[in-house]
Amino acid sequence: MSGGSDWLGRLARPLESASQNDFRALPRVRDLGKAILNILQNAPEETGGGAEQFRERMAALFGDFDTLPLPVRRDRVARALKLITEARQQNLWPESAQSKNDSKSKESATPDGSGKVPPEPAPREAELARKAARAPEGDLARALSELDTDVTYVKGVGPRLAQVLGKLGIEKVGDLLWHLPHRYEDRRDVRKIAELKGGESAVVRGKILGAGRAGRRVYEALLGDETGTISLKWFRFNEKQLRDRLERGEEVFATGEVKSFRGKLEMTHPELESALDDEEDGGREAIVPVYPLTEGLHNRRIRTIVGNALDKFAPYMLDAVPNSLMGEPLPTLADSLRELHRPDAGNDLQRLKAQATLYHQRLRLQEAFYLQMGLVRSKMEQAAEQAPAFDPEPELLQKLMAALPFKPTGAQQRVIAEIAGDLSKPRVMNRLLQGDVGSGKTVVAAAAASIAIAGGAQVALMAPTEILAEQHYRSLKALLEGLGVRVALLTSSQKVSTTAVKPARVLHDISVGAADLVVGTHAIIQDQVKFKNLALAIIDEQHRFGVAQRADLRDKGEHVHFLVMTATPIPRTLTMTIYGDLAVSLLDEMPPGRTPVHTRVYPAKGRAEVWRLVERELAEGRQAYVVYPLVAESEKMDLRDAIAAAEELQNEVFKNYRVGIVHGQMKSAEKDDVLRRFRDGEVHVLVSTTVIEVGIDVPNASVMVIEHAERFGLSQLHQLRGRVGRGGGRSYCYLVGGAGVHADANARLKVMEQVSDGFVIAEEDLRLRGPGEFMGTRQSGLPEFRTLDLVRDRAIIARARQAAEEIFADDPQLQRPEHRALSWALTHHWKRRGRFARVG
Ligand code: ADP
Ligand code: MG
Repeated sequence: MSGGSDWLGRLARPLESASQNDFRALPRVRDLGKAILNILQNAPEETGGGAEQFRERMAALFGDFDTLPLPVRRDRVARALKLITEARQQNLWPESAQSKNDSKSKESATPDGSGKVPPEPAPREAELARKAARAPEGDLARALSELDTDVTYVKGVGPRLAQVLGKLGIEKVGDLLWHLPHRYEDRRDVRKIAELKGGESAVVRGKILGAGRAGRRVYEALLGDETGTISLKWFRFNEKQLRDRLERGEEVFATGEVKSFRGKLEMTHPELESALDDEEDGGREAIVPVYPLTEGLHNRRIRTIVGNALDKFAPYMLDAVPNSLMGEPLPTLADSLRELHRPDAGNDLQRLKAQATLYHQRLRLQEAFYLQMGLVRSKMEQAAEQAPAFDPEPELLQKLMAALPFKPTGAQQRVIAEIAGDLSKPRVMNRLLQGDVGSGKTVVAAAAASIAIAGGAQVALMAPTEILAEQHYRSLKALLEGLGVRVALLTSSQKVSTTAVKPARVLHDISVGAADLVVGTHAIIQDQVKFKNLALAIIDEQHRFGVAQRADLRDKGEHVHFLVMTATPIPRTLTMTIYGDLAVSLLDEMPPGRTPVHTRVYPAKGRAEVWRLVERELAEGRQAYVVYPLVAESEKMDLRDAIAAAEELQNEVFKNYRVGIVHGQMKSAEKDDVLRRFRDGEVHVLVSTTVIEVGIDVPNASVMVIEHAERFGLSQLHQLRGRVGRGGGRSYCYLVGGAGVHADANARLKVMEQVSDGFVIAEEDLRLRGPGEFMGTRQSGLPEFRTLDLVRDRAIIARARQAAEEIFADDPQLQRPEHRALSWALTHHWKRRGRFARVG
């Protein structure tokens, strides 16, 4: 056997090539772990004790290798190479034993073929030193694998219960320990029934004296203690379940609101819990946690198993959040979970209920910190990916800028330079462009595209709706076609009215590179679309696309630069959370000549005044939008309302003008027709039920009326308002509240009268509606948290972000001894959650 085929050499080769030039190739190597395991399986028979151990350690390094984040993979490759070097030094596999063929016979595995010469034993000291170095790692691995253990290993959890827990997303021990109570009951203050008064909330302990139906819709039980009785009532109930729980003679705690009904005390829908094994919990002196439950699971049960899990597994919880992050000394993770699951009777119940304890703080910090570590790492990893570098100032870009009918704003120039800078590096760009509606993102997109196209590559621009795609197509064509750029449109219902080219032809052009810039909807990511050389993907209205769609777009090219654009200003905290792995550019300057849109909130009964004001503008030759929201649950009714309103506007209010309507049920061609007529000034008032399709640019429109404005988020209102005030001159936005809407709902809208800065409005909107509503879509990419609140905890998130950046700047691969636990904990954390959602 030649030296080149020796087994250790075979093992080392892929690792060596992956590690060259500071692991440059590693991100591109696929299935390295699998390959190494394969080679390991074909190991020659070992010739000594050290060899078996070597194999085990290598297998441990590469077992889950392919799922790990890059820094950890790097670390493992480095460690594996070291092991191989050591193995060579110790001569674990003597030269001639190192080929698979030879290894079949032990005889030939020794230099003289006698099979009698044992390998050089490893020096004892070295062995011990290695063991010591390994030990903490072993513990860490153990700690994490314990928490990663199936929940059925918790005492009291059988397969049936495991299934029920699964419905709550609890699969592993760690999940169970993080399943926190959502409230607490005070058993330190169990009341006597005779003392109760109507209107208070209380806990009583007593015996079920009887239970049964008390009418068709009521189930009733009588609970008594030594001082009196109280009736417990249920109006919606599962009779069998109640019957099981309300066994006569059973001793229970009942918690709830006490009411006095016809002189008798009662509780409706009380929380019940058996008092049988209460003593185990420390008797009546306890604060009792109450958990989010699901069918087939009682609070008592989950308390017991969480307790069992705590006893057995809490010691394995890793405390990997760095001390520097904690402004004040915080309790350990294990202690925090223990206290939240089994609060000490001495705890401050109010603080517990308000989630304001140091224990909560500790968990929050961890959630924020792990998230930011993931995002920063992902950002670093993406930044390491190679991509074609482009000339940042090609002639095409210069020509484009020179041909613009206006002078770019300072913000546009700055952002274009930021993008050009990214594209000029041989690394993949992942940039988020945030710019308020009307700030001029299209020009920036065109500039970015021109840089890639000048470099001989293709560019894709994806928009969420056909109308937006078509509008982009028109604007970009106007900007670029004269400069020799071939622009193509690709939507799923391609219409002859907007493109002269048939889809099949477009697909062909894209595949042979005869289209430089492809503008379209998600039709772009269909399988049959093949690019010749896609290098830049631009996504408009980023938040409307899902992670999967972005990944599909990335797969359309070899190394795709990403520019994602959003017109919804996103508060910094959210940007940090959702787009935390992207570089951010801000278009924070409006083109000149834009004046703030004069905004007024009107109650429904003020509508006549609004129409008068609109008419005044129409008389001056301007145009108006009237938007009706469609709410999914009552869509049909709303649509009828909108159509009826449009008719009324035409027939009663604006008799001398033309009123047009666009709504979601219309065919695209019809919609286009109306929109075109509005753009050309033939239609004066455009009634619309859909928000995004108002995304047309009609500078002559000077009034925006929004009906049922209370149904929109402030940011949406701001978007809509941005449709007017584009042509210079004064412009107006009237927010009309629905009839009978509570005054508070309309009061919220008042913010719009004062503020025109989209970011300020976004902050306010986030504060009022919370992150889920704010982002508005299930695909928003918002991670779920147990304790972290993106609005309340922004300071924590910012601190976590900073800490994560500092740690990675200092120790990119988390190799320092003090980061060892952290590195492990994160690996585990990420493995459970899958890869971070990459946008670009
Ligand atoms: P966004 O997509 O950011 O909402 P657009 O790119 O559609 O904004 O631009 C809005 C309008 O402003 C367009 O009519 C565009 O031609 C115009 N515009 C863009 N940049 C400038 C500028 N620097 N000066 C004047 N007008 C501009
Ligand atoms: Mg736009």
